[in-house]
Amino acid sequence: TRNVVIIGAGIVGTNLADELVSRGWANVTVIEQGPLDMPGGSTSHAPGLVFQTNPSKTMTQFARYTVSKLLSLEKDGQNCFNQVGGLEIATTNARLEELKRKHGYASSWGVDARLISAEECLEMNPLLNKDMVLGGLHIPSDGLALAARAVQLLIARTREAGVRYLELTPVTSIEQAGGKVTGVRTPGGVIPADIIISCAGFWGVEVGAMVGLPIPLLPLAHQYVKTTAVPARAGCNTIPNGASLPMLRYQDQDLYYREHGDQVGIGYYGHKPMPVVAASLPAASEQTNEKYMPSRLDFTRGDFEPAWKLSQELLPALQQSEIADGFNGIFSFTPDGGPIVGQSPTVDGFYVAEAVWVTHSAGVARAVAELLTTGRSSIDLAECEVNRFEEVQLAPTYISETSQQNFVEVYDIIHPLEPRESPRNLRVTPFYSRQCELGAFFREFAVWEHPEWYEANAKLIKDLPPRWKSVERDAWSARYYSPVAAVEAWKTRTAVAMYDMSPSRRLEVSGPGAVDLLQRLSTGDVSKESGTITYTLLLDEHGGVRSDVHVARLEEDLFQVGANGPVDLVYLAREARKQRQQSPDQWVQVRDITSGTCCIGLWGPHARNLINTVTADDFTNRGLRYHRAKNARIAGIPVTAMRLSFVGEMGWELHTTADNGLRLWDVLWKAGQSYGVVAAGRAAFNALRIEKGYRSWGTDMTTEHDPYEAGLSFAVNVDKNGYVGQQALKGRSQDKTARRLRCLVVNDDRSVVLGKEPVFYDGRTVGYITSAAFGYTIGKPVAYAWLPSTVAEGDAVEIEYFGRKIAATVAAEPLYDPQGSRLCG
Ligand code: FAD
Repeated sequence: TRNVVIIGAGIVGTNLADELVSRGWANVTVIEQGPLDMPGGSTSHAPGLVFQTNPSKTMTQFARYTVSKLLSLEKDGQNCFNQVGGLEIATTNARLEELKRKHGYASSWGVDARLISAEECLEMNPLLNKDMVLGGLHIPSDGLALAARAVQLLIARTREAGVRYLELTPVTSIEQAGGKVTGVRTPGGVIPADIIISCAGFWGVEVGAMVGLPIPLLPLAHQYVKTTAVPARAGCNTIPNGASLPMLRYQDQDLYYREHGDQVGIGYYGHKPMPVVAASLPAASEQTNEKYMPSRLDFTRGDFEPAWKLSQELLPALQQSEIADGFNGIFSFTPDGGPIVGQSPTVDGFYVAEAVWVTHSAGVARAVAELLTTGRSSIDLAECEVNRFEEVQLAPTYISETSQQNFVEVYDIIHPLEPRESPRNLRVTPFYSRQCELGAFFREFAVWEHPEWYEANAKLIKDLPPRWKSVERDAWSARYYSPVAAVEAWKTRTAVAMYDMSPSRRLEVSGPGAVDLLQRLSTGDVSKESGTITYTLLLDEHGGVRSDVHVARLEEDLFQVGANGPVDLVYLAREARKQRQQSPDQWVQVRDITSGTCCIGLWGPHARNLINTVTADDFTNRGLRYHRAKNARIAGIPVTAMRLSFVGEMGWELHTTADNGLRLWDVLWKAGQSYGVVAAGRAAFNALRIEKGYRSWGTDMTTEHDPYEAGLSFAVNVDKNGYVGQQALKGRSQDKTARRLRCLVVNDDRSVVLGKEPVFYDGRTVGYITSAAFGYTIGKPVAYAWLPSTVAEGDAVEIEYFGRKIAATVAAEPLYDPQGSRLCG
C-alpha cells in the first residue's frame, strides 16, 4: 500500500484523513507544525459561518456535504453544527434583486431557500433596524460550524482508524526522484511518501515552492470582533459560545454577524486589503493559544471604525455594548475566488487542497479522497483545479492584485458578464489594433482581450430586417450586452463574418507515439488519414466528459488539437510522459502553440466567394471538405485551413503564426468589403452556437456527465476499443439515461435568461439552465438545461428568473439547420 502524507491538521487536512481512511486507505500520516490541540492556522479561530448558496454549483455541493458531515460528527450527544439558519438581508433595491437571483441558485443546486419580507426578517432577528431592511433570503439549513471542535473529533476518530499524527513538526522540504515525490523532510528526518497532499492553508505558497509549484493564493488579514454582552440578548443563549438567531449577512456594507452567547461577533470585509507573507509569521510553538497564534494578527482598531458605526445602525441594540475583543485573522484569497485543488502538473504524487473555507472543507476533502482512490471526484473540479490558470496569472503581481480585488468584492453584486477593470491588456491577439479601430468591446477570455461585439457595426442596426431585430431586454440581461450582436449574427448567417478565434487553446501533439496517445485518450477514431479532423471527447475512467476537442491530423505524426484549457494541456502532457516511460520509442511531444499562433474563423454564405479572391488554392467543397484540413496560402501567407464551424455556417478556421496574423486580417478584411464582411464578437458567436446546439464544455457538460446524457453519443465511436472511459460506457446509451441536456425555447419570445437559473416541471425544481442566449435566427430566446429524461420534447417547463416564472417548451434540437446543409455545401 502507498504511504500518504497530509501536510496540515486544519479543517481540510483532518477531513481528508477521515475521508481516506473511511475509503479503506491505510498508512496515512498527518504532519502539523503547530500543537495538535490548537494548530494555529485559520481553522483555530474561524467563527464558522456556513452560508451554502453560491453561484457555483460545485461550491454549493461542497458546502452541502460539509453541513451533512458536521451534523453527523458527534460526541457526548453534541454534533459540530449549530443549524441556526442563514439570513441575508437587503438594504438596497439592487441587493433585493440580487437575493432573488441567489434564491434561483439555491433552487438550482438543491438548497431550500425562501425570499422573505422585511417584517419576516425582523421576526427572525429582532435586533434589526426596521427602517433599514427591505427584505431577505432565509436558508434554514445554513448554520455555524464548530470547526475547531470538528478538527479534534476528526483527529480522535482517524487516530483510532490508524492515522498517525505528528505535531510541532514542520515540513521543510519535499523529497523527489524521477518526477515523483518520495517523502517529506522534517527536522526529525525524512518520512517516506508516495502521495503528499498539502492542506497547508495560507502557507500553501511556501509548501508549493518546495516542489517549484506556484500556488496562486494570497494570505489576507480579515477583521473579526466580539462585542461585550448585549443587554437585549441577555440569557438568550445558555452556552457561552451558543447562538440561536440566524447568522446574518449585511452585504451592502461588507458585514456579517453571529452570536457568541450574549455577545455578538462581527466580521468585516470593508477595510483595505492587508496582505501577509506567511513565511514572515512567527513559527507555531507549544505556546500557541487562543489569543496567540500565527494566523492571528493584532487588531487594527482604526480599520474597524466604519464597521462599528454601521453595525450600531443596523443593530441598534449594539449601542449598549462595546468592542470587547478583536483581531485581524489571516486566510487565503485567490485570483478567481475558487479554491486550489489537484495534482502538480510536473511532480507526480504532489497534490494540494488549499484556499478552502470551512464552509467547503469536508466537500473538498471528499473530492480529493475520491480523486485519489477512484481517479475522479463525483463533483466537477474544473473551478478548483490547481492547473486552471494561465502562465501570466501565476505572476506574483497578478496574484496579489486580483486576490486583493476578490477580497474587496467578496460581497459585491457582480454581473456574470462583467469584465474585470484591472489588470487588463495582458494578452492581446495580433488583430488587437484592428479590433480597437472597430470599437471592440473587450472582455477577458483566458486573460486574452477578446471582443464581445464591435461598435463599428452599430451603423448597420438600421439595416436589420425586422425579424432579426433583437428584443428589448430587462435591466440585468441588458448589462454588458449590445444589440449590435444581432447585426453580427445576421451578417454571419447572410453574408460573411470574421471571428478572432486566437484565444481558443491549440495544442500540437507530435512524435511517433502521437496517434497512439490520442487514440487511447479519446472516444473517436483519430487514426484516419492525414488531413482529417475529428470531433471527439476525452473521458475519465468513469465515462465523465473531461473535455471535448477537435483533433486535426496534419501529418502522419503531427496533430493539432483544439482543446479547452490549461487542464487539457496538463492531462495530455502527463499521459505523454507516462507513455514515453513505458515505451521510449513511442515518445510524444505535447506543446501549447496558442500564443505563438493565431486564428480567424471566416464563416458565412459568402465566405467562399471572399476567399477565392485572395487564394489560388482550392477551397471548393471538393478541394476541402467538411472536417478536413490542409495547408494553403492566402495572399502568400501560409495558413492551415480547417473546414470547421462553431456557428453553423460554411467556412474555415484559418490558422497561421502570430507574425502573419495582422496581414491575414487585413487581406481578408479588404477582400471582404464587397461581400459585406463584418468583424463579429463572442456575443453573436455564443448565440449562433446555441441555436446550432453546439455544447460548450465546462458550461453545458463537465466530468459529472457522460456523452449520452450530454447528447454527444455521435462523438463516441462504437467500433473503437481500448480508450479511457470505454469500460464505464458499456451498457449505457442515450435512451437509458436518467437525465438529459435539453434545448428550451422561451414561449413569450422575449425573456432572456443568462444561465444557472432553476427549471421547474409540474411545479417542482427539476434542473437548471447551462447556456442561454437570444437566438437571432429563430427570433426566440433559447436555453439549454439539465433535466430528468422523463421531461420530453414538447413538454412545458418554467424557468425562475428574479423570482418570476417564465414559461418555456422543451424543443427538438438543433433549432437551426438540423440537416447541416449550411455546413456541407
Ligand atoms: P488551516 O486551518 O490554516 O490549516 C493549515 C495547517 O497547516 C495549519 O495548522 C498549519 O500550521 C499547517 N502547516 C502549514 N505549513 C506547514 C508545514 N510546512 N508543515 C506542517 N504543517 C504546516 N470560513 C468559513 O467558511 N466561514 C467563516 O465564517 C469564516 N470566517 C473566517 C473569519 C476569519 C477572521 C478568518 C481569518 C477566516 C475565516 N474563514 C471562514 C476561513 C477559514 O477559517 C479558512 O478558510 C479555513 O479554516 C482554512 O482551513 P485549512 O485547513 O485549509 O487551513
